[in-house]
Amino acid sequence: MTYQLELEDASVRFDSLPVVRQVSLQLSQGDIGCLLGPSGCGKTTLLRAIAGFEPLHNGRIALQGKTVSSERVMVAPERRRVGMVFQDFALFPHLSIADNIGFGLRDRSAGERRQRIRDLLKLVGLTGQEKQHPHQLSGGQQQRVALARAMAPRPEILLLDEPFSALDPELRTQLAAEVRTLLKEDGITAILVTHDQSEAFAMADHTGVMNQGQLHQWDSSYNLYHHPATTFVADFIGRGTLFPIQVADRNSIDTPFGLLSGKLPPPLEPGDKLQLLIRPDDLHLTTKPEGIQARIIEQLFQGADFLYTLQLEDGNRFQCLAPSHQRHQTGDRVTLKLDIQDLVLFGGDGLALESRS
Ligand code: ATP
Repeated sequence: MTYQLELEDASVRFDSLPVVRQVSLQLSQGDIGCLLGPSGCGKTTLLRAIAGFEPLHNGRIALQGKTVSSERVMVAPERRRVGMVFQDFALFPHLSIADNIGFGLRDRSAGERRQRIRDLLKLVGLTGQEKQHPHQLSGGQQQRVALARAMAPRPEILLLDEPFSALDPELRTQLAAEVRTLLKEDGITAILVTHDQSEAFAMADHTGVMNQGQLHQWDSSYNLYHHPATTFVADFIGRGTLFPIQVADRNSIDTPFGLLSGKLPPPLEPGDKLQLLIRPDDLHLTTKPEGIQARIIEQLFQGADFLYTLQLEDGNRFQCLAPSHQRHQTGDRVTLKLDIQDLVLFGGDGLALESRS
C-alpha cells in the first residue's frame, strides 16, 4: 500500500542537538493527522521537515511513495506540492478575497482559475464576498480564506501550523470541526500542529502525541484516551490519576480501591509493582451503601457535569465526573463504584503493558 505521507525514523538535529527523534508515522490519502504536544517538543520542526524547510539527519520522508527527504535526498519545498496554513493567516492585505484564493493558480487558464475560486468560495461559505479585502472579514472568515488559498492548487498534503490559535477558544473547536468537513469534502490529506487536544479530537483521524522530540503514540483519539501507550500520553490527554499498585495474583491487582480483577498480561508475577490509570469517567457516585468511601475535596462546575476531586481514607486523591443535577458539597462523604472496561497498567519504564505484546 502506498501512503500519501510516510515517515520512517525521521530525525532532525539543530547543530548536534536532536529535536525530532526517530519519528515514524503514516497517513493515507484523504486522512487528517494531528501532532499534539507541549511547547518545544518538536511539532513545528517536524512539520517543517515534511514541507522541506529542514533537512533530515536520519530516516526518510516519502510523499506518495517517493522519497522527498533522507540523509541523501532533499527535494526543494516548491517541488513537494505541499500547502501551508499558518497561525497568522498571512493573507495579502491589498488583494481581494478571490485574488488571495487564486494566488497559487497563476499558471492555470483564466477559466480554470475562476472555476476553482468559485468552488472554494462556496466550500468555505464565502460566496458573495469575493470582492472584499481581508480586513473586512472576521478572524474565522480570514482563516477560511487562508485555508481556501492553500487548498486551491490541490496540494498532495496540506500542513496547518496552529491555524486556530489566534482565534478565541470557542471559535477554535467549532472551526476545527468545520475545516475537517471541508478537507474531507475536497479529499485533501492534511497534518495539523496544535497543543490543544480539543482541536485534535475535533479534526484528526490519527493523532501523534510528542514529547522531547519523540512520538509516543500515533493513534485514534479514542485509543489515546482509553489505551495510552505511555504514562506521558495518559497524563497529557484528558484527566486521570496514576496509582501505584501491586499484582496480587494472576488475575487481580491490589489497589487503593481494593482488589480489582481483570485480564493481566502473562509475564506479570504476584508482588510486581505497576501503575494503574483511573480516568474521572471510570468512577460513578452511587446511593447504594456498599462501595468505595471518599470525601469531596474540591468541585468544578462544568455545565453538564461536576468534576469532583475526592480523597480516600488513605489520603490518595483522584477525580470523578458526575452529572451536575446530582449536587454535592465540598466536605461531603460519598460512595463510589468503579466501572472500568480494561485495566490500563504501566511498568516502571512508563510503557503501557498492553502495548508491549
Ligand atoms: P511550540 O508549540 O512552542 O511551537 P514546538 O513543539 O512546535 O513548540 P519546535 O518549534 O519544533 O517545537 O521546537 C523544538 C525545539 O527546537 C525547541 O527546543 C526549539 O527551541 C528548538 N529550535 C527550533 N527551531 C530552531 C532553530 N532554527 N535552531 C535551533 N533550535 C531550534
